[in-house]
Amino acid sequence: MSHRTAFARRHETVPVQVGQITIGGDAPVVVQSMTNTDTADIGQTVTQVAALAAAGSELVRVTVNNEAAARAVPRIRERLNAMGCDVPLVGDFHFNGHKLLGRQPGCAAALGKYRINPGNVGRGEKRDDQFARMIEIACEHDKPVRIGVNWGSLDQELLARRLDDNARLGSPKSLPEVTHDALIESALGSARRAEELGLPHDRIILSCKMSGVQDLIAVYRDLASRCDHPLHLGLTEAGMGSKGIVASTAALSILLQEGIGDTIRISLTPEPGGDRTQEVIVAQQILQTMGLRSFTPMVVACPGCGRTTSSYFQQLADDIQRHLRERMPEWRRRYQGVETMTVAVMGCVVNGPGESKHANIGISLPGTGEQAVAPVYIDGEKSLTLRGEHIAEDFQRLVDEYVDTHYGSKIA
Ligand code: SF4
Repeated sequence: MSHRTAFARRHETVPVQVGQITIGGDAPVVVQSMTNTDTADIGQTVTQVAALAAAGSELVRVTVNNEAAARAVPRIRERLNAMGCDVPLVGDFHFNGHKLLGRQPGCAAALGKYRINPGNVGRGEKRDDQFARMIEIACEHDKPVRIGVNWGSLDQELLARRLDDNARLGSPKSLPEVTHDALIESALGSARRAEELGLPHDRIILSCKMSGVQDLIAVYRDLASRCDHPLHLGLTEAGMGSKGIVASTAALSILLQEGIGDTIRISLTPEPGGDRTQEVIVAQQILQTMGLRSFTPMVVACPGCGRTTSSYFQQLADDIQRHLRERMPEWRRRYQGVETMTVAVMGCVVNGPGESKHANIGISLPGTGEQAVAPVYIDGEKSLTLRGEHIAEDFQRLVDEYVDTHYGSKIA
């Protein structure tokens, strides 16, 4: 494939079907996530997969690291199906995937996709046989595969060969450059080998995850210009809290803006006892704030300043955001297009009316010294004014009414 403006690239990738989900081609960028439960613990894994799916994860990956995990996978699938949760499961395999998939055909059949890391398939001669066995099983079960190269587990034999070759050059490349080349070669070479073994071209997704933002951008730009496979995008080991979110957003938004990336996962380290679904919400927020997809109505809120006397408007913005998210599972079923709605919650008259007019529905709360009234704007027009103790509840009710009257019923 020749170099092209990458914005067009996403539409040029060969789509891959994973159960009912399409990755690549003209399909919207798919959000995925990964569990952190022991897969052999069926109850906990089912609960977490269901929570991730309910939050909007369209694929959920589980580690399949031993026989107990492999035996658990079909039972997890059955339990999810019984709950009405049809999210495809992706099996993450390292070192022993060829054995587990071979010995547990129920696992091979229940998974929607296999993730194979070429750096962790085996060493020396065994590597090729073990990789071939996994591809054979994917072909037998008609399953797609993600060839997922990772900076931290790059095939060391390949890297050593490329470093030797590089040392013989008149103008050798830097170590990062050679490593980037080796990552891409590992992904593309493994994809070619999988096709030689019979896996159809439209059953292959690639990834080359790295933990450095600039490294990730450089590698994916190069990878995207050299193949038409859909790309799974994510900054590996992004980290905790705001650092993980910022680093992932910085890297992914540049690539997504260039049309690179057909499915994304945000690899956040949860706080102890934290909610795993946060990685799904961050992925959705990246796509929605970039205007690539809509998932949940967005709240536009000002940051507040000395013109606001209390945290009242912050509380209102938070309550509305939570209310919208809680109502979405039902609204998604009932109201077409509701996910594109914007709601403004503003702290005073300086920017309140202007920003509220741009939203579908907005409220401008009274700032310091302002009259204790809150004008509400609906579709750009000042429609009514709220006052008194129950402004928050009244505004929430107006938002619900707006949804009911502006987004046609999907289902009778
Ligand atoms: S809208 Fe008012 S309260 Fe909010 S940041 Fe601007 S000036 Fe401050």
